[in-house]
Amino acid sequence: MTDINGISHLLLDIEGTTCPVSFVAQTLFPYAASRLEPFLLEHADQEPVQSLLQDVEDAWQADSDAQAMVLRRSTGQLQQSAVEDGGSTVVSKAAYLRLLIEQDRKLTALKDLQGLIWEAGYTNGDLVAPLFAEVSAALRRWSSAGLELAVYSSGSVWAQQLLYAHSSSGDLRHLFKHWFDTRIGAKQKPASYLNIAEAMGAAAEKVLFISDALAECEAAQSAGMRVLFSSRPGNPGRDPGPFEPIEDFSTLLP
Ligand SMILES: [Mg+2]
Repeated sequence: MTDINGISHLLLDIEGTTCPVSFVAQTLFPYAASRLEPFLLEHADQEPVQSLLQDVEDAWQADSDAQAMVLRRSTGQLQQSAVEDGGSTVVSKAAYLRLLIEQDRKLTALKDLQGLIWEAGYTNGDLVAPLFAEVSAALRRWSSAGLELAVYSSGSVWAQQLLYAHSSSGDLRHLFKHWFDTRIGAKQKPASYLNIAEAMGAAAEKVLFISDALAECEAAQSAGMRVLFSSRPGNPGRDPGPFEPIEDFSTLLP
């Protein structure tokens, strides 16, 4: 059992801490890829998709990558009408987005479109966020005991709330009082944890942070927080370094 006397706030990472890391790589990204064309075709003339597709078009026109240019020429030849108006069709933009995904290149419009596809998937029930088995009971237990719960994840607050709204244990958003993403600072920087403590109105030493990333644990500890290293099945790194490991929240009282 881990003693958490003197703790008033619990700050929790998501991936590798409350939710398997495989969910993002093996479920979310493949889902967005599989729904790309149908989603774009269905929403191309509606905002915000329409504007995002314009951003994709602009990025493609400015893209000097050899494969992107070859793709642009080949789709242009196939789609005479698109060539005439100087633009590309929705399907060819999807092909360009697939190329970006394949090359692991970042484009804000792509990230935003993936987010919209996930939102649609969560809403229609295709996607459910698989939390580790004891997580929801632990969140309720801590919350009932008067602890303030907070999320700190590199996914946007919007994405965090989608995930907890559609979890394998139902909608758990009400259990969290605070939500933080990298807008408050990078997860490897001690200053981010000081900002978070201040935003929660808590002294850093009264906050317990749990994460599976050593660099995050180190940053939180430098900021004065208490830290536990999350060691869950499927995590890429399970060596806790100098930190006390936790494999299961049921051992964390109250
Ligand atoms: Mg993590």
